[in-house]
Amino acid sequence: MNMRKKEIVMEDIELEENEDVEKDVVEIIPPASGKKISNITDLPGVGAATAEKLTAAGFDNIMSIAVSSVGQLVEITGVSEAVARKMIQASRDALDMGFQSGEDILKKREKVQKIQTGSKAVDAMMGGGFETGAITECFGEFGSGKTQIGHILATNTIANDPEAVVVYIDTENTFRPERIIQLAEGANLDPDKVLRNIKVARAYNSDHQMLLGEKVEELIKKQNLKVKMVIVDSLTAHFRAEFIGRGTLADRQQKINKHMHTLMRLADTYNLAVYVTNQVMAKPDMFFGDPTQAIGGHIVAHASTFRIYLRKGKKGSRVAKLIDSPNLPESEACFMVTKEGLKDI
Ligand code: ADP
Ligand code: MG
Repeated sequence: MNMRKKEIVMEDIELEENEDVEKDVVEIIPPASGKKISNITDLPGVGAATAEKLTAAGFDNIMSIAVSSVGQLVEITGVSEAVARKMIQASRDALDMGFQSGEDILKKREKVQKIQTGSKAVDAMMGGGFETGAITECFGEFGSGKTQIGHILATNTIANDPEAVVVYIDTENTFRPERIIQLAEGANLDPDKVLRNIKVARAYNSDHQMLLGEKVEELIKKQNLKVKMVIVDSLTAHFRAEFIGRGTLADRQQKINKHMHTLMRLADTYNLAVYVTNQVMAKPDMFFGDPTQAIGGHIVAHASTFRIYLRKGKKGSRVAKLIDSPNLPESEACFMVTKEGLKDI
C-alpha cells in the first residue's frame, strides 16, 4: 500500500491539483494499523487458532474471506458477528478488486490451449479440445471410460508439447503405464519419453489427495516443471467412502470445495488444464428423480468449468454429453475406446 501511495504521489507531483490528489490517496489507503494485509493472519481478529479453522474450511486466502458471508465465518470460527464483519471488510479493502476489461479477458483467452482426444466428435463438442485454464469434470458410471480419457489426455498433452508435464493424482490405483505405452505408440510418440513426463502420485485418502493438489505448485515453482495438465482420477471416491455414515455432509462438501479451489487456482495461475473424474450415485439418497446424479453435488458441479456426462452406448461405443459449459452449446459425441486411443464411429 505504501508503494502504491508513493507511486501515485510521484506521478502526480507535477499536477496542479495536487491537494485533491493527496485527498484521494488518503482514501485509497486502508485505515487501521498500516500493516499490509497479504494473508489471513494479517486480518483483524484472526489469531493462530482462527486461522487454522479458516484454512481447514478452505478459507485460506484474502479473496476467500472477502467473498464470504458473516454467517459462514461465524459458523466456522466461532468469532462474533462484529469481528467477522471486520475481517470481511479488511479483506475487501486489502484486495485489489480491480475490474479487467473485456479486452484483457480476451487476451487471456487467447492463451488458452486445447488438448485433443483423438476423436473429432469429442473435440468438436469441446470447442476444439480440453481447455487449459479450466476444470473439466467427467462423470459417469463404472467402466464408462473416464479413466481412459484421463490416459489419453495425459498422452496428448505431451504429444502437443514435448516439454509439457502431466500430474496424475491416482486415487483408485487405475493409472496404467502399459496403457500409456499403447496410446503413445498409437500417436507415434516415444513411450519412454511420455512416461517420463507423467508424474503419478497415488493418493491414499482424501487428506492426502488434497495435499497432493497443493504440492503441484511446488513442482512448477521449485522444480520448474512445465505442468500443463493435472488429472485427479477419481476426484470424489475417497471423499465418498470416508464420509459415509458420518452424517456430516457439510464437512465433506467443505473439503471438496477447498480441493476444487486449489485446482482452479492452479488452472488459472499456470494456464494448465485440470481433468477430474466423478462417479454417479447408484442409489441416490439425497437427490430424487435423477439417476445420473454425480457425487459431490453442487460443489463439484459449480467449480467445474466444463461438465461431461459419459455413458456406455451401443456395441461398445461411448456417448459423451457436454452438459455445462460457459460458451459451448449442449451437445453429444459418440466414440470408441480402442487400443490406439479414442476413435470416431
Ligand atoms: P471408468 O474410469 O469410467 O470406470 P474406464 O476408463 O476404466 O472406466 O473404462 C474401461 C473401459 O475402457 C473398458 O471396459 C474397455 O471397454 C475400455 N478399454 C480399456 N483399455 C482398453 C484397451 N487397451 N483397448 C480398448 N479398450 C480399452
Ligand atoms: Mg476409472
